[in-house]
Amino acid sequence: MNVVFFFGLPGSGKGTQAEKLVERFGFFHFDTGKEIERTLYDSLFPDDPVIKRERAIFDSGVLNTPSWVEAIVRGRIRELSQEERSIVFSGSPRTLPEAEGITPLLEELYGKEALIPIFLDIPEAVSIARNSKRKICKNRVCARVAAWDAMPDAIACFVCGSALGRRSVDEPHIIPDRIMQYRTRTAPVLDFLRQRGIGIMEIDGTSKPEAVHKEIISRFHF
Ligand SMILES: [Zn+2]
Repeated sequence: MNVVFFFGLPGSGKGTQAEKLVERFGFFHFDTGKEIERTLYDSLFPDDPVIKRERAIFDSGVLNTPSWVEAIVRGRIRELSQEERSIVFSGSPRTLPEAEGITPLLEELYGKEALIPIFLDIPEAVSIARNSKRKICKNRVCARVAAWDAMPDAIACFVCGSALGRRSVDEPHIIPDRIMQYRTRTAPVLDFLRQRGIGIMEIDGTSKPEAVHKEIISRFHF
């Protein structure tokens, strides 16, 4: 069992690369953003004050409250380890407190040597260009991302046929703020992992998704 984490600016291909590990090796794709979105919009208690507060935060493109995110993430990790599933994360840990919360748990359940953080390196200009083109299936159960390079003109989801639209967090005016949030809040997570003796693998994320995937599996044998 392995636990892979993808880090990188918005649009660096974290979700796409995670999906390739799912298809090839049967990893469970732990998409924190999706877990958050599901929790917020499929809640049985939509008028709950905490849900309302977190929904407002989410829709404005700011990172959700770390303790709230951590509780969702921890519960799910325990379930997956009991099922002996390898996990790939494409959006967490997003903040230092979140990393401090889940890293010891993952070390305990999977072992430190099983943890593999991969940094997908892209310039800011690439991040902005990719995110302004990104579309997602409006069907929340499906929620497939229509990748920036694969189908730029698609108007319907190729999996379920629902309409495609932009995620609220991909609106162009919000992207520079997401990049800033990444630099100030997510980058320290990499330092934290290094300090625990967990090396970060850096991969050029500007190549085509298939080339990036090949590079990754040439370095690891999952
Ligand atoms: Zn769909």
